[in-house]
Amino acid sequence: MANETVQVLIIGSGPAGYTAAIYAARAGFKPIVYTGAQPGGQLTTTNDVENFPGYPDGVNGSQMMVDLQKQAERFGTEVNFSVVTSVDFSKYPLKVTIDEKTELQAETVIIATGATAKYLGLPSEEKYYNRGVSACAVCDGYFYRGREVAVVGAGDSAAEEATYLAKLCTKVHLIVRRDEMRASKIMQQRVINTPNIEIHWDSETEEVLGDDDGVTGVRILNNKTGAKKDLPVQGFFLAIGHKPNTDIFKEYIEMDETGYIKVQSGSTKTNVAGVFAVGDAADRIYRQAITAAGTGCMGALDAEKFLAAKEAEMVHS
Ligand code: NDP
Repeated sequence: MANETVQVLIIGSGPAGYTAAIYAARAGFKPIVYTGAQPGGQLTTTNDVENFPGYPDGVNGSQMMVDLQKQAERFGTEVNFSVVTSVDFSKYPLKVTIDEKTELQAETVIIATGATAKYLGLPSEEKYYNRGVSACAVCDGYFYRGREVAVVGAGDSAAEEATYLAKLCTKVHLIVRRDEMRASKIMQQRVINTPNIEIHWDSETEEVLGDDDGVTGVRILNNKTGAKKDLPVQGFFLAIGHKPNTDIFKEYIEMDETGYIKVQSGSTKTNVAGVFAVGDAADRIYRQAITAAGTGCMGALDAEKFLAAKEAEMVHS
């Protein structure tokens, strides 16, 4: 294994990674997927996925990822439940280290490591995770239609999620920790103009309240007055940012200030030849399973083109 050169090495096993694997495998490249520490990625932490086209009755997130894995394996993908712990993209072929010990060479690498939503870190938030606590309004908002919810955050995501939820829910409480929002003026204006959004300024979440059925409320603390208030919500949405899982590539791959990988417009090419980035690791805006799958397909096609061009070069030299 140590001296083998992999043609298409895929890091990450969410919709982006597996879709890249399906396309690369069907093109005859015998791709290898390294799943990472959370096989299946973020979707394994949600219950029902209702917005992925092709599932009229929705699909369980974990089940969907098992299906994607099977589909990738059916065409010859090797799936390894290991973690890529470091890379060396300083020269070609590309080098990847697995579980801090095994070094592999690869002709192409597709980075599909995703992003992780940030949470407040409260024990009560963890307790009701997926039972009222969510970090994705577009994914889970529908389950709270006709009910009252809270959103934490004050950036564009929080503004967008609050206005999205306001269309489905009777009332949205927006919990903002300072006396102003970071969101763009136009997004703030939308929040202010939506009658069923109430903004709680200078407010921090002290505890998520609940019972056996899930979230029943949230206790907030005004950090200027010290006053506490319980909001009667059934859904508690975090919109305090995401962290792309791209730290191990920092030395070689160009990223924005948050760590999202920069790709050439309309492609998945990074600044390193043979390295492609797909899914949420390179997407700060859409972050949906379907967009991740779409770019996963693009990554495999880009890798295929790269390998074909390299082969043609060798034939002519
Ligand atoms: P941001 O980093 O912009 O904002 C995070 C927000 O969460 C901040 O307001 C911050 O508060 C708040 N926050 C962070 N930690 C805590 C905490 N522990 N408790 C309470 N509040 C907290 O993240 P976004 O996800 O909103 O946006 C990321 C990027 O994506 C931005 O560049 C944004 O413009 C972009 N985006 C664009 C959209 C669009 O154009 N349609 C939609 C969504 C995102 P504070 O302000 O006090 O630091």
